[in-house]
Amino acid sequence: MAGATDTPMMRQYLDLKAQVPDALLLYRMGDFYELFLDDARVAAAALDLTLTSRNKNDPDPVPMAGVPHHALDAYLRRLLDAGHKVAIAEQRPGASAKLMERDIVRVVSPGVPMDPEGLDAREPVWLGALTRSGGAHPVYGLAFLEVSTGDLRLAERPDAAEALAELHRFDPRELILAPSVAEDAALSPGFSGRTLSAGEPRAFDAGAGRRRLHAQLGVADLAAFGASGLDPALAAAAALLAYVTDRARVPLGHLQHLAVLPRGSAAVLDEATRRNLELLRTLRGGSRNGTLLALLDRTLTGPGARLLRDWLLQPLVALAPLHARQDAVEALTDARLRRPTREALREVADIERIAGKVAQARAHARDLVGLQRSLTALAPLWGRLAAVPALAPHLVEDLLPDVADDIAATLVDDPPLALTDGGLIRPGVSAELDRLAALGRDGRQAIAAIEERERARTGIASLKVKHNRVVGYFLEVTEAQLARVPADWHLKQHMSGARRYMTAELKEYEEAVLGADDRRTALEHDLFLALRARVAAAVPRLMALARAVAFVDTVAALAEVAVERRYVRPLVDDGLTIEIEAGRHPVVEAAATDERFVPNDLALDAQRRLIVLTGPNMAGKSTVMRQLALTVLLAQIGAFVPAARARIGLCDRLFVRVGASDDLARGQSTFMVEMSETAWILRHATPRSLVLLDEIGRGTSTYDGLAIAWAVAEAVHDSARCRAIFATHYHELCALADERPGVLNQHVAVSDRGEQVRFLRTLRDGGASRSYGIQCARLAGLPEPVLARARALLVELEKRPVHPPPSRQLALFAPSTPAPAPAPVAPALQALADALRAIDPDTLNPRQAHDALYALRALLPADTGD
Ligand code: ADP
Ligand code: MG
Repeated sequence: MAGATDTPMMRQYLDLKAQVPDALLLYRMGDFYELFLDDARVAAAALDLTLTSRNKNDPDPVPMAGVPHHALDAYLRRLLDAGHKVAIAEQRPGASAKLMERDIVRVVSPGVPMDPEGLDAREPVWLGALTRSGGAHPVYGLAFLEVSTGDLRLAERPDAAEALAELHRFDPRELILAPSVAEDAALSPGFSGRTLSAGEPRAFDAGAGRRRLHAQLGVADLAAFGASGLDPALAAAAALLAYVTDRARVPLGHLQHLAVLPRGSAAVLDEATRRNLELLRTLRGGSRNGTLLALLDRTLTGPGARLLRDWLLQPLVALAPLHARQDAVEALTDARLRRPTREALREVADIERIAGKVAQARAHARDLVGLQRSLTALAPLWGRLAAVPALAPHLVEDLLPDVADDIAATLVDDPPLALTDGGLIRPGVSAELDRLAALGRDGRQAIAAIEERERARTGIASLKVKHNRVVGYFLEVTEAQLARVPADWHLKQHMSGARRYMTAELKEYEEAVLGADDRRTALEHDLFLALRARVAAAVPRLMALARAVAFVDTVAALAEVAVERRYVRPLVDDGLTIEIEAGRHPVVEAAATDERFVPNDLALDAQRRLIVLTGPNMAGKSTVMRQLALTVLLAQIGAFVPAARARIGLCDRLFVRVGASDDLARGQSTFMVEMSETAWILRHATPRSLVLLDEIGRGTSTYDGLAIAWAVAEAVHDSARCRAIFATHYHELCALADERPGVLNQHVAVSDRGEQVRFLRTLRDGGASRSYGIQCARLAGLPEPVLARARALLVELEKRPVHPPPSRQLALFAPSTPAPAPAPVAPALQALADALRAIDPDTLNPRQAHDALYALRALLPADTGD
């Protein structure tokens, strides 16, 4: 080994690699980035590169793989997508030593991506850091940074579960873990699917975090941000900022603001709730289409799209900012204000990410022109918006006209992508530049004149002066015209079918032109860098403006949806009443094509706080529950809601759980998951919470399931005392309404006229009629005599007392206690046997089989379950 790697170059390589042991090192050599040793093997596999070696004849060759420098971006993206970190070592310019000097200029990783171009403008890319204080009552400190926009958030949470909730909410691509949390099993669900980086223990230092942020934000104290006392969070911030600036080498001039996320500042949506409500991704397939976000996201700018997403994940619990948002949305429901606003926003680029690129000295001329156009497009709009009382407080006065003018006066309208080839700067900006441009122009004219003259002199009609980077200027002649070439031309290049010539005169102009061009492009580059530095000084002002634009864009989008879909402004207060008149499910309604969506009324309050919701399969139970949750959520982000009228008493937490058999997306030990999630709800729900349990307890045997559903319902009513809906197929649960004052039975109605099951989609008081099972059986093709027998049995069975009191019922269902034999089992068994014999399994489709099962169950006496 020593032999192969013991060359000056390999020693330099290994030194650089030692700085970034967890990253793949791309080592610049001429036109290639090379990888060596293990890195080469990993990259060759990930990128389908050929694995070669540097010294094939050595007994111990060094594995090597390379990518061409111009294709770096594409390869980088693939390595990042595969979860790798990549360090880039460039050659230091100007060094003339035998061994080229090299430095690591950037370390790219999933949480610290290269440039915003490759990013989805609608999604933030969060990098997180997490630590935990010591002592008897540890506190979890979290810091999250969106590198492209400099958005920094800090939070402290008293237990692992709440810290985990924040991890799920931010969903960081990459997470820096302090040793104190790396092995924390309670947090590990928040680690999967992310790139994990082990942070140095001493990087997590609150004092260092404080010092870094003081310098970063230009303040002497973090009190104004509410962050001065947050030791664990500042420790996390220290590790995070060190990682980004020192290790990844990203300058953070655009980090101008810090937000602290106090506990309880937003309604809590845990991970399961977010998933079940399909806020950002659908349950099945995980697509964006069909989510609440997709429905709402009519924003027109990147900052707006990212803000809307932020709002959706942290509904407000404070009335004042919520009403302020509602006022703003309402103002923009007026088309005379909304249309011109949205038209102007269409012209606005991603100011936030451009400002980030400017601060990192990565912005191109096109970015600056885009910025200038954005500022110009906003100018006429801003005056108009400032006159609207509901919007004025959310605007900033400064539209940076000085910056816009500077850019417009300096750069041409449509600059090229490259910064070093000239063509960037307007005439009149620099007298020297204009002089160089004129020199080049004159030279090119003189060259054109030479072409004319020589063509006339030689009679070669096809004669052309051409130019390329390697040869310079030349006269090109085809073989056929060789005889006409005059003696004073010098042959420069022999091509197949053509010859290239030079003259002394041409050479002279070439030198003038190329010399002027070189100096011109260099000067243009300098002028551009100076302009970019001037804009960089305005980054804090740009960031403030970007926040205002994001707000306007987001409320205008919500207003657009409200008008298009006929939503209304809900009355949101701090009572406990929820009253929705003619409410609809926003997403199902928008997707409905053949069936018109049937609106429903819903009311819950502290007195009538638990609805036991029954109704046959497919009636619409799950839909009506989610509709309620989404309506509350919309109301608490300040949006309008799909209803004729709504009053929403603020919710502090929203829990939505779907029973195992309804949630096909998860398979394993669903019952355990379901029970632990239910336990979690019972521990965390408050009287201000909203709990929606959809067929909980289904994942086990009927006795267990009913017993658990029953006990949970009692606990929700008696101890949590929250507002809740319990959708269940255990009709037995309807008896709870007789026992508990706050319980109310409702069902989603189906029409039973003529025994044709027709879904009415309407919510009615009382438990569901139990005879739908027989109707379903009929639909499924059970023969008429069997149905008649079933009907007779049902009448018989329903005459019997249905339930013992719930307290005793529970004991009766405890698995250890054998259930006493219910009385009239024999006729029921007979009916079952008859019905079973009538079924021909080979002729049923899965749906019919499912319905037949229900029908069979309906034949059983009420209190035997299975
Ligand atoms: P359940 O939970 O009772 O089995 P779902 O809520 O899953 O029923 O609804 C079944 C189907 O009925 C869904 O496909 C849904 O689109 C449709 N649906 C539900 N409620 C309504 C309604 N109010 N108006 C129109 N269609 C509805
Ligand atoms: Mg359902």
